[in-house]
Amino acid sequence: MQTIAERLKSAYLRMEHATANAHRPPKSVELLAVSKTKPVSQITQAYEAGQRKFGENYVQEGIDKIQQLAHLDDIEWHLIGPLQSNKTKIVAEHFHWVQSVDRLKIARRLNDQRPASMPPLNICIQINIDDEQTKSGIAPDQLDEFIDTVKTLENLRLRGLMAIPKAQSSKTEQMHSLRQLAELFRRYHTNLSDFDTLSVGMSNDLEQAIECGSTMIRIGTAIFGPRNQP
Ligand SMILES: *Cc1c(COP(=O)(O)O)cnc(C)c1O
Repeated sequence: MQTIAERLKSAYLRMEHATANAHRPPKSVELLAVSKTKPVSQITQAYEAGQRKFGENYVQEGIDKIQQLAHLDDIEWHLIGPLQSNKTKIVAEHFHWVQSVDRLKIARRLNDQRPASMPPLNICIQINIDDEQTKSGIAPDQLDEFIDTVKTLENLRLRGLMAIPKAQSSKTEQMHSLRQLAELFRRYHTNLSDFDTLSVGMSNDLEQAIECGSTMIRIGTAIFGPRNQP
């Protein structure tokens, strides 16, 4: 049985190799530890091993953990799961990042409900890169208009794009989606300050994602083991 610290170390090693193979600068890719369904005791173990960025999928579960771990006040909490409009207020009051913004209504509510005492909320726009019916995210051709509106929202800090590409059977197809996403990211990265995050890549495709320019890998299972029932 490997410890969480050992698994984290392996994940960072894989990322370092992939970054070097892609001729990208060391430390140009960050790791988000996805702790959904995992108890705070395991998050604490990852924290003690040096991990500071954690991702949660379910709003209430995330808030409970943020409150229980409030004493670890340099943790950065990212919401990466779907967000309904009746939950935007508690999210705006507790999280540091929301990576799953895919409707203007949600963006406006987060902006209006972000407490004045807190810094702007970091957000990523979720892109449905493979045009899947069942997946959240906006279509690439809607992005210009979406960004024009988000730019006017002063309590949000637009950091980049997030996507969950379809699991493809061939590497060529997978690389195709990742390259499209990277191209989209570059277009805005060049012109918008703060637009520095391309959140894509999980346990089984992090090498390809890093090759295509990902700046943030989201890993759950490879660090915390198989998911518990939520
Ligand atoms: C669960 C989840 C992950 C982590 O997936 P693993 O396969 O456990 O590494 C990453 N991103 C999102 C959006 C998720 O929901």
